[in-house]
Amino acid sequence: MRKDIATPQYTKSILDKHKFKFKKSLGQNFLIDRNVLDKIVATADVSSETGVIEIGPGIGSLTEQLAKKAKKVTAFEIDQRLIPILEDTLSDYPHVKVIHQDVLEADLKAVIEAEFSGIDDLMVVANLPYYVTTPIILKLLTERLPIRGIVVMIQKEVADRMAAKPGTKDYGSLSIAVQYYAVAKSEIKVPKTVFVPQPNVDSSVISLTLREQAPVHVENENFFFEVVRSSFAQRRKTLLNNLQNNLFSKEQKPMIEGALQETGIDGKRRGETLSIEEFARLSNALLPLNRV
Ligand code: SAM
Repeated sequence: MRKDIATPQYTKSILDKHKFKFKKSLGQNFLIDRNVLDKIVATADVSSETGVIEIGPGIGSLTEQLAKKAKKVTAFEIDQRLIPILEDTLSDYPHVKVIHQDVLEADLKAVIEAEFSGIDDLMVVANLPYYVTTPIILKLLTERLPIRGIVVMIQKEVADRMAAKPGTKDYGSLSIAVQYYAVAKSEIKVPKTVFVPQPNVDSSVISLTLREQAPVHVENENFFFEVVRSSFAQRRKTLLNNLQNNLFSKEQKPMIEGALQETGIDGKRRGETLSIEEFARLSNALLPLNRV
């Protein structure tokens, strides 16, 4: 029986054997705690029927625990130096495939079709590189992939923003972007001590369960997200001011006021107090104005 990769000693021996030096610019903080890995795998509810896409396998500590439970694991790793190391550390798991590619450039739909045909239950599970967390998650959500959900370790501050409720300091356009596509839940807080090297920030595991249908009716998605972004552009300004300054013009003020009145939303409120339903109503009412 092999030892777990995720112990401080074994991780060190793998790194020494391959003379591996961490690249900070690639967000390389490797997990060395089996308990945390077990919690991630359990949160993702990975079974022998599950196909898993992993992003950034590193030296394979999470990949190994996923491979013990999943039907198949396909992992994207950007760092060429890790490819031979992964071939070594994951040699016991023939149902793991590592693709040497920047996940942001990957055609995920095509990879899913090629790698997971006949597997209906798909999850994305990862300890994400923190420098690129938001673009990766938004790519996974907006491409409407046939996945059940996403369970990822990310910077705690970003997890808090993704799962935030209206009226809280963390609530913003990222909360709405994520919650439009998924039900977001911050699962566990993770201390810096479970990584080598230790990151400068605290981490959280967040689960994003994909919605089968959007939670609100939006006539034009792009415009809805423009309204949301504009409403948060200057957090201390009122909704009316933000919309007037960032999406429309001063001359359109009476029409913006008309749309606000029609939806029963007070223009003196701040964006951070509006629920996703209110943003949907507002963007539908403002849409004809956008076409003028
Ligand atoms: N999964 C490993 C673990 O938990 O120990 C490593 C996690 S480490 C936080 C992030 C990994 O993502 C690194 O191996 C890094 O090289 C890789 N990575 C960084 N940017 C990437 C990208 N754009 N596409 C794919 N992998 C990336």
